[in-house]
Amino acid sequence: MEEPIIDYKHKTPDVQKQLEALREKPVVLDVEGAGKTFHGENGTVEALKDISFKVHEGELMSIVGPSGSGKSTLIRIIAGLETLSCGSAKLDGNTIDSPGPGRGMVFQSYSLFPWLTVEQNVAFGPQTLGSSKTDATNEAQHWIQIVGLDGFEKAYPHQLSGGMRQRVGIARALANKPRILLMDEPFGALDAQTRAQMQAYLLQIRRTIDVTILFITHDLDEAVYLSDRVLALDANPGRVAELIDVPLVRPRKPEMFSDPHFLSTRVHVGHLIHGDFPEEMKELEFLKEH
Ligand code: ADP
Ligand code: MG
Repeated sequence: MEEPIIDYKHKTPDVQKQLEALREKPVVLDVEGAGKTFHGENGTVEALKDISFKVHEGELMSIVGPSGSGKSTLIRIIAGLETLSCGSAKLDGNTIDSPGPGRGMVFQSYSLFPWLTVEQNVAFGPQTLGSSKTDATNEAQHWIQIVGLDGFEKAYPHQLSGGMRQRVGIARALANKPRILLMDEPFGALDAQTRAQMQAYLLQIRRTIDVTILFITHDLDEAVYLSDRVLALDANPGRVAELIDVPLVRPRKPEMFSDPHFLSTRVHVGHLIHGDFPEEMKELEFLKEH
């Protein structure tokens, strides 16, 4: 990759306006001084240390960081599946201490009910929350349309492609009308072409319903392309390296992958996560010694 000519902190007036508008939106998720230590058989692991950040309504924030930097632990804490050792995590001002419908989870593995149809999978949440069967089915229909799967209501998960199953997973999470959608490497198992399609779907869904999203990914291009801001973590212990404003206007378009603002941000995030060498060059590091 050529050395970018624009500083990643440089923003056009349109981008500045967009980011200011975002900062004025209410805070949905507020994480303050969060720490997590695991005490296991093999000793103590400080998975997270002094993590603070806020996610605003309608924002898409990505979390990136090396393996073991505590990304999944952080999202599991926000989901209420894990407790904090210190600090706090609040959803709309309320301390998170258990799972709840305010947070929708989408994992890398599909976790759909294989014995239920697409429609039944998506209707499951609303029914559990008290909707009648008819209402839940109507709601399911709405979300199935939003993820572009109309016509597949009666299909079973095994009859669908990986990308389609993941769209059912998104529809199912959205059907509970979460305040925040939590996604842990949701496209990590998909091939490059399907992944690009899923990115387009996610951006389109976000435009349609203005949902707030916290998105973990290994793919730094994906993080920059999709997000308003990128939270980069360091490992051992997992802590904030930098919270980066993405200097790209919305709506995002695939052409932006070659925008100088995209490239400078991508290169910067790459340096934060992998050091001076891009990941694919890491094994060549020994050459420096010769
Ligand atoms: P990431 O998702 O960024 O790869 P994780 O959140 O999965 O990182 O893990 C962060 C660190 O915490 C790792 O060192 C991992 O081994 C440790 N860890 C995660 N969950 C547990 C657990 N339940 N018990 C003990 N250690 C754990
Ligand atoms: Mg993980």
